[in-house]
Amino acid sequence: MKVTFLGTGTSVGVPVIGCDCAVCLSKDPKNTRLRSSLYVVVDDLHLVIDTSPDFRQQALRHRIPRVDAVLVTHSHADHIFGLDEVRRYNTLQNSVIPVYASAETVEDLKRIFNYIYVEAPPGTFRPRLEMIAVEVSFRLGQVTVTPIPVLHGKVKTLGFRIDAGGYSIGYVPDCQTMPDSSLTLLRGLDLMILDGLRHRPHATHMTVAESVEVLRQIGARRSYLTHMCHELDHGETQATLPAGIELSWDGLVVTL
Ligand SMILES: [Zn+2]
Ligand SMILES: [Zn+2]
Ligand SMILES: [Zn+2]
Repeated sequence: MKVTFLGTGTSVGVPVIGCDCAVCLSKDPKNTRLRSSLYVVVDDLHLVIDTSPDFRQQALRHRIPRVDAVLVTHSHADHIFGLDEVRRYNTLQNSVIPVYASAETVEDLKRIFNYIYVEAPPGTFRPRLEMIAVEVSFRLGQVTVTPIPVLHGKVKTLGFRIDAGGYSIGYVPDCQTMPDSSLTLLRGLDLMILDGLRHRPHATHMTVAESVEVLRQIGARRSYLTHMCHELDHGETQATLPAGIELSWDGLVVTL
């Protein structure tokens, strides 16, 4: 299993438009964060978790050759506004592409991308997507995907656990509260990736300290924070994290 961090930034990305703070002006490439998304390849199956507004750029940067399925955590703009770009893979693969999300998110996607369902004139390209509401584990070839329900403020959001070839990862980019039942679903992971927005408390995201505590409870072999804002300098923040917990960055690849 090959896991690529396509983006590790919060909703506005880093640098932030019009901001001249030290992180936004930083020359360290690890302080540049596109909107959060994960790309997972298992043998010849290519999965993307969330299609951010930066998805086109991310797909070009990492030369993503195909997309066999999209998993969507929730319908906030920073996680879905690149969904239209998937139509290029409809053309390349000559197939409909399945999109898996909660029933609420599927409803939102159908409303927000309503033009997908209007018949297109010949020669024009609209995404061809099959929206599939999921609640419990499902299979994609040799891969098992398990939705992980969490609370993102008051918004019910999903993370995903992916099991394949004896390895397992968990990805929960937007989360403020991790229910005990979801902690149970994340047992025995090789890699866990969790929301770690900033140090100051936030209404809908975990702080770095809260995230570190939950990552300790999960106890994966390797743990990463994601969805960071411009208040976190990569080097400075990394230096304060306990062993086994790291800050992710755009372009990081973990092979299991
Ligand atoms: Zn987000
Ligand atoms: Zn800034
Ligand atoms: Zn969100």
